[in-house]
Order: sequence, then structure tokens, then C-alpha cells
Amino acid sequence: MECPKCQARMEVVRFEDTEVDRCVRCGGLWFDRLEHELLKRRAGSEAIDTGPTWQAAMHDGQERVFCPVDGVQMARMVNAAQPPFWVESCPVCHGTFLDAGEFTNLKEHALGELLRPQRGERAP
Ligand SMILES: [Zn+2]
Ligand SMILES: [Zn+2]
Repeated sequence: MECPKCQARMEVVRFEDTEVDRCVRCGGLWFDRLEHELLKRRAGSEAIDTGPTWQAAMHDGQERVFCPVDGVQMARMVNAAQPPFWVESCPVCHGTFLDAGEFTNLKEHALGELLRPQRGERAP
């Protein structure tokens, strides 16, 4: 598979029983549908996110990113709770691409959410 951002080769990295593709150049991570949701809840999974984050800054603003699986243009999914933060997601296969460092970011944020008291959910 080719990296959708810098077109370098992607290698398979494994965390426990889950395989993820990681770009050998920019360190971007490719997750098959919802894999990142499952992985981010698991302790130690940030170990797969070893890419150089300075590269991520370079690639993050890329306007058109095409799915490495089916070639469809990927949509930007903005995380409303954590702007300015977005990931690219394929509308067809639901694969998700995260730049280096973004998975760790998401993961830390998810933990923060759990610790924070829930506001605005009480009935009026
Ligand atoms: Zn890359
Ligand atoms: Zn796709």
C-alpha cells in the first residue's frame, strides 16, 4: 500500500492482535474501519505512533487526499471537541488516515474526556 499523503511505502505494524499500516517516510497511520477507535482505548497502543511529527505538520494541510485502498477522495473529519484537529476518512471503505502524532493526540484526548465531569447532559 502507498501512503495517501507522501506516496511512500507503508509497512505493517502490529499491536497485539491488530495490524495497522504505517508510512515509512512520514509516519502516517492507516486504520481499517474503526480500528483506531478500538485501539485508542487500549493501554500502550500509542507505541505504534512513532513517526516524526515535524513531517505531519507538512502534510496535515494537504487539500486532496485519496484513499490508498480504493482511490476515492477522502473526507476531512473534524473533531469538534478538539479543534483545529481533523483526520482523513474514506467515505467508501471507512478507512482513516492519521498523521504522525495524531493517534497519540486522540488517545490522550479520549482519556481526558473520561476524566472530565460530563456537563450539559442533565435534563432541564
Ligand atoms: Zn507518508
Ligand atoms: Zn477507501
